[in-house]
Amino acid sequence: MAGPYLEFGVSFPVATPPSKPYAVRMIASPLPPRQEMLRAFARRDPSYEGVFVTAVRTTGIFCRPTCTARQPLADNVEFFATPRDALFAGYRPCLRCSPLEPAGAAPVWLRPLLDAVAAEPERRWRDADLVALGLKPERVRRWFKTNHEMTFQGYCRARRLGAALRQIGEGESVTSAAFDQGWESLSAFTDAFRRVFGAPPLDASRSVRPLLARRILTPLGPMVACATSDALCLLEFAERRMLERQLQRVRRGLGAVPTPGNNEVLEETARELNAYFAGSIQHFTVPTAQPGSEFQQRVWARLVEIPSGETTTYGTIARGLGLPNHSRAVASAVGDNAIGIIIPCHRVVGADGDLTGYGGGLWRKRRLLDHEAGIRTLLPDSPAS
Ligand SMILES: [Zn+2]
Repeated sequence: MAGPYLEFGVSFPVATPPSKPYAVRMIASPLPPRQEMLRAFARRDPSYEGVFVTAVRTTGIFCRPTCTARQPLADNVEFFATPRDALFAGYRPCLRCSPLEPAGAAPVWLRPLLDAVAAEPERRWRDADLVALGLKPERVRRWFKTNHEMTFQGYCRARRLGAALRQIGEGESVTSAAFDQGWESLSAFTDAFRRVFGAPPLDASRSVRPLLARRILTPLGPMVACATSDALCLLEFAERRMLERQLQRVRRGLGAVPTPGNNEVLEETARELNAYFAGSIQHFTVPTAQPGSEFQQRVWARLVEIPSGETTTYGTIARGLGLPNHSRAVASAVGDNAIGIIIPCHRVVGADGDLTGYGGGLWRKRRLLDHEAGIRTLLPDSPAS
């Protein structure tokens, strides 16, 4: 995979910056202040997913921070760092938000449909097909809107267009790609293609690189991963805030339009993330490549050198690059990293040990550092263990 921006992995002849073990003062309390949690719960803020669960004394039920059920009186709410703690305290999991499941997991009623789509990706789904499967089209639509920001039919269409783009890029004719992917008319296919990729099929297959996107569920909430067939280009928590900006950058930098799908790189990313959260690996081997300036590439290459369980500062990285006055530029390059966790920007802290900013939310940064320091496991475990 060639291109001037894909320099990741290039080594620079500078000494490794000294890093320090994750400071103990940051882990004094496993929970954010109560007022902050009450605010986050009131807003159903998804960036606190995996940071706390809420339990209601009057009902004996506990919920994830984003539960859509009617909110209880603040006085009756108790907070726990993990579902396990809430279970131990005698609370039962809410049936609406299923706090024992990873956030964003497909509900049981939807799984047969997801299996059917995976088995027959070129099929066109109509509402009548959903009804035949015993599903309410409106319910399916709502789940896809919430979790994929598009309707179910839009999701399937984008997936089929992505597959067609790859086929045409590999030399298949536009006509056969269109029919393979379930279009009945070439003009409808061309229109749909132009709407998504901004160009008709043959032009797009030359100028637009296939980029596949999928969600990966983690104990800290769902993440979105994008990859070409060669490398992971984006890994971000799925809230809109940072994701939209990072997607723009990747789209522009790679000349690519992400469509829903899966490939080997994404599968490997999911496997390694699972192993990371289970505590069985500390290093990632999945290939990465994100668009960025030479300076950004150098900063990102430094991040990978910070050992798991340790942190470093923006100033230390700047000095390591021979640019001691450029801490701010380093901080902004760190903030522009689009491959969270794997390019560990969460291991960079302020000069005074403060956590400073993190696109995925400060408390998630702290949970990642705690996890790497071996303080707590992020995988929910059963209360019996
Ligand atoms: Zn709930």
